[in-house]
Amino acid sequence: MTFSIHGIPVARGIAIGRAVLVASSRVDVAHYFIQPEEVRAEIERLGVARDAVVDELQRMQSDMPKDMPPELGAMLDVHLMLLQDDSLAYEIRRWIKERLYNAEWALVSQLEVVVRQFEEMEDDYLRERKADLEQVIERVIRRLKGAAAPVAAPPPRPARQHDLLLDDTLDVPLVLVAHDLSPADMLQFKKSVFAGFVTDVGGKTSHTAIVARSMDIPAVVGARSASQLVRQDDWVIIDGDAGVMIVDPSPIILAEYGFKQRQGELERGRLARLKNTPAVTLDGQKIELLANIEQPGDTEAAVAVGAVGVGLFRTEFLFMGRAGQLPDEEEQYAAYRAAVEGMHGMPMTIRTIDIGADKPLDDRRPDTHLNPALGLRAIRWSLSEPAMFLTQLRAILRAAAHGQVHLLIPMLAHASEIRQTLELLDRARAQLDARGAVHGRVLLGAMIEIPAAALQLRLFLRHFDFLSIGTNDLIQYTLAIDRADESVAHLYDQLHPAVLRLIADTIAEGARQGKMVAVCGEMAGDPEMTRLLLGLGLRSFSMHPSQILQVKQEVLRADAGKLSDWARAVLESDEPARLLAGE
Ligand code: PEP
Ligand code: MG
Repeated sequence: MTFSIHGIPVARGIAIGRAVLVASSRVDVAHYFIQPEEVRAEIERLGVARDAVVDELQRMQSDMPKDMPPELGAMLDVHLMLLQDDSLAYEIRRWIKERLYNAEWALVSQLEVVVRQFEEMEDDYLRERKADLEQVIERVIRRLKGAAAPVAAPPPRPARQHDLLLDDTLDVPLVLVAHDLSPADMLQFKKSVFAGFVTDVGGKTSHTAIVARSMDIPAVVGARSASQLVRQDDWVIIDGDAGVMIVDPSPIILAEYGFKQRQGELERGRLARLKNTPAVTLDGQKIELLANIEQPGDTEAAVAVGAVGVGLFRTEFLFMGRAGQLPDEEEQYAAYRAAVEGMHGMPMTIRTIDIGADKPLDDRRPDTHLNPALGLRAIRWSLSEPAMFLTQLRAILRAAAHGQVHLLIPMLAHASEIRQTLELLDRARAQLDARGAVHGRVLLGAMIEIPAAALQLRLFLRHFDFLSIGTNDLIQYTLAIDRADESVAHLYDQLHPAVLRLIADTIAEGARQGKMVAVCGEMAGDPEMTRLLLGLGLRSFSMHPSQILQVKQEVLRADAGKLSDWARAVLESDEPARLLAGE
């Protein structure tokens, strides 16, 4: 039966495919794709783990003291029976062969299918077998974990898979449905096969949503109980424009969305023609459209859509999911240098690590402080770990010898933080000089993303060459709304007069002092905000490459001079959203 689930739209477009539920099981396992040629080995790995569990259970059975309750023996019998059940084993192998899931993922996928069937049963005895199955699967997973290969980034969809597969189900697009995904998980899925994403939790500018947006595929977050209502392999439609997921659509609905999907593709084709068109407004204002990236390889997408530089490289993604083993100076230098060179002489803005809040270093050890968003995050963390920070600064300064590097510092609020940062930067340079290492000049910038920073612009402009407004956090901290919390997402208002006032003042003060001001939060990539930001005087926008052409289209249609009077009226209004709607 068709039903729909509403959430928050994150990335535009329509995806139609089969649902892949990830990590909704209570067992915490790695999810990754294997290569077709690895299918046999993966099935063998699963077989070895299963046999080991069978041995273990049989040993337990034979060693069981005589006075043990008979229920225990019966339970072991049930577990052994489940383990040796051919049809269960066949279905688990199917996930590996047909979907190229790793063995652990195949196990939890089948577990979910069977658990649903058990839950629908009338018979109490059979319903209770659910717990047995969960325990057995957990045992096998624990065995696999012991022998498992480390989780690699999921490989891209192999080109010639049919020869090796039982059928052609891989031709069906897959849509990922999860309760939550960390930004690092999301990044792992970046080069994978998924055609769309839905998560139960999250807000529009949570970092998971940001990474989803960078993948340029339809995504919906904050869809509450999606991962419980959708079943493994259900047909689903994701409408990333409306923030809706439709489950088990009827043929009429499918046809309608198929049409919308094709229209979207045509629109993309049309926008692609703007790639080499300079971003200039009707009244001749040159606008800089820059890219936000998470990994050095993302420069390719940035260049492909005609970005004139990178306005934000979120370096923290190099540090995440490494179980505390942070990248050393050489590894970081290689990454930053690759990013710099990937832009072929255009500016590369490297932001120092912004770890903390919804971007923990290690997903498995999330930040347990009471208010992580208000805690040891970004520059605060860097200053508390000076050796780590110096390593990063040295790597960035060395990469600056290979191109135009702008160094950007996140979350500054205090004069003392600015002073300490500048001192550490001097020290990093001195350390490089002492060992005769080559390094380059950098322009130094500060993120304006805490209201306290936006209220002391003169201090910031005295010390920095440029400013970059992080609207994602500026909105979060101005309005006291957790950007990752879907329950208050309706109050996360980028058009709140207080937010607009801080943005407008930052742009105006920068212009007065002849310093460049950019916006690199999600607002810069929202085509509905382009005219307002132009009207407020913004000339530099940084966003995910997937948004650049749409924003460029808005720029080409705008008259910045005429927009400034209107923008002033919006700024003076108590309810700017109304003015914007009736513009
Ligand atoms: C911001 O806060 O707007 C920003 C660009 O930084 P991040 O989203 O990484 O916090
Ligand atoms: Mg920020």
